[in-house]
Amino acid sequence: MRSTCLVLALAMAHAAPALADDPIPNDRMLGLRPPEGATVLLGDSMTSWAKADGQATAEWPVVDGVATVAKGSIQTKDKFGDFRLHVEFNVPYLPDQKGQGRGNSGVYLQGIYELQILDSHGLKPQDNDCGAIYKQIVPAVNACKPPLQWQTYDITFRAARLEGDKVVAKARLTVVQNGLTIIDDKEISPTPGGVGGVKEGGPGPIMLQDHGNAVQFRNIWINPLSR
Ligand code: MG
Repeated sequence: MRSTCLVLALAMAHAAPALADDPIPNDRMLGLRPPEGATVLLGDSMTSWAKADGQATAEWPVVDGVATVAKGSIQTKDKFGDFRLHVEFNVPYLPDQKGQGRGNSGVYLQGIYELQILDSHGLKPQDNDCGAIYKQIVPAVNACKPPLQWQTYDITFRAARLEGDKVVAKARLTVVQNGLTIIDDKEISPTPGGVGGVKEGGPGPIMLQDHGNAVQFRNIWINPLSR
């Protein structure tokens, strides 16, 4: 009887549903398909993406749905207000590089807020590491996987609110990285290096940064949210 109970208890523990936030980075958002109404931004081509001029189609190579950073930053041809965005990324292993030279890229939300991409596995979170809003928000936990592994960002973005030309409410952001909430409904301000000509409040494109490292992307989709 006792051993039966033990087996049952073990079976139940094994079958228990995942907690809302598992304590370690995980794969539960990997391969997430776009919901109805979402737009696929990166499937098997770059047709949704433009070069820095916002016009000519981006030239990042795409092989089997995987795009690799090359020839400059790119931005979506479309612009967005409030949205839910799914991004999968993979940073290269660059053991000879340090700090900001190690697998650097970034996802610029509405073209003006950089959610950093970097090889930050195992580090104490800082405001310029992977998962940070660059030089502004430190991720709550380090949810980074080692380089050469696919990682996920699941982003909920609410644009700044304006009255006339005046910002009356900052943009708000929630980010889940590899299944862990790293930024929970925080106010954000624009960061350096984004798309020119976009004002707080938007609308603005999604920009992927070329910082000189061969970071890879796949399965990117966006679902506009009603205000
Ligand atoms: Mg960056």
